[in-house]
Amino acid sequence: MKIGILGGGQLGKMLCLAAADWHTETFVLDKKGCSAENYCAHFIEGDFKNYADVLNFGRLCDVITIEIEHVNIDALQKLEDEGKHIYPSAKNLRIIADKGLQKRFYDTYDFPSANYTLFKNKKNLTDYLKREHPFPCVWKSCLGGYDGKGVAVLKSMKDAESLPDVECIIEDKVSIEKEICVMAARNATGDVAVYTPVEMVFDEKANLLDYQICPAGITRLQALQAQKIAKKLIRKLNLVGVLAVEMFLTKNGEILINESAPRPHNSGHHTIEACVTSQYEQHLRAIQNLPLGSTKLTSPSVLWNILGAEGFSGEAKVEGFDEALKIPAAYFHFYGKKTTQPFRKMGHATVLNKNAGKALEEVFKLKKILRVIA
Ligand code: ADP
Repeated sequence: MKIGILGGGQLGKMLCLAAADWHTETFVLDKKGCSAENYCAHFIEGDFKNYADVLNFGRLCDVITIEIEHVNIDALQKLEDEGKHIYPSAKNLRIIADKGLQKRFYDTYDFPSANYTLFKNKKNLTDYLKREHPFPCVWKSCLGGYDGKGVAVLKSMKDAESLPDVECIIEDKVSIEKEICVMAARNATGDVAVYTPVEMVFDEKANLLDYQICPAGITRLQALQAQKIAKKLIRKLNLVGVLAVEMFLTKNGEILINESAPRPHNSGHHTIEACVTSQYEQHLRAIQNLPLGSTKLTSPSVLWNILGAEGFSGEAKVEGFDEALKIPAAYFHFYGKKTTQPFRKMGHATVLNKNAGKALEEVFKLKKILRVIA
């Protein structure tokens, strides 16, 4: 099959690399210079947010998938109407790209998730905040947010002043014990598979994933419960492909869905080296309606996001790579971004060790050795 991928960032690149193993023909739509440009069979320069670009691109392919949710969904709907396989479907993308609709979906199907209220604009929001004083609470823009952009914790009325005038939600602020993620996969036949839950540790300053541990340090029961939620969600969405389900384990032991992403995910990079089937191969299997691969964990792992070092902006340079390569069972992935800036995702490393604690120690070592500077 000819597989079209909207977006040529690092996720698109890793999808292309997985596709290359089976010599599957890939098409990527994005701007020149993106990570995937030289790793797909056919690179099409264009804008995945533009209706005509997506339509023309989609007509070249048999199956169209995404590596980012913020694409032109109307064009995908048109392609679906023309008989193309669009995974995730335009309907699913509309739900997931909008945090308000996502929350409503969770409510409709009784998924545990933090309580929320939806607002059409800033005036409605401000009236509510003045009336209810729900502080502290979490503000989220319905559209366009990613990697913590479009999310703010409000401690008082003052914090709301600088918020943009957009459709948004206010969520109860959850007392988080751990942030976990479960990758699920489903093919068109309806077979479902889930991976071992991972634990995500965020960089407070960057609001981005710092490192991720697999398996998550939670009880067996909690792990099973998280996997059960992810399985139910992928089935209820009727989603084809992989789905990352980000969840909170609360201080009182509850598991709540935070949000989900219908594509390979940062929290699933470790599956390349630490699982029988990587999230990328699994996605390709699912969207071609092939049997799903084993999700078995072959080794505990810690994944580290290599972010641009603070204080450096400009042409990217990797410092300390020779030293980093001396760490055993460390696997490096660089995304080929020509310029760096503080906290830009430049690559990742996955360290395997039969003892996850040891892998974490190696990652702490790596963090001292390896830097992306300008
Ligand atoms: P994004 O889509 O930008 O990744 P998220 O919805 O995942 O945004 O929120 C980013 C981070 O903000 C989460 O990883 C979590 O640490 C924090 N957060 C989000 N929602 C809540 C909440 N209801 N209570 C407490 N913290 C939250």
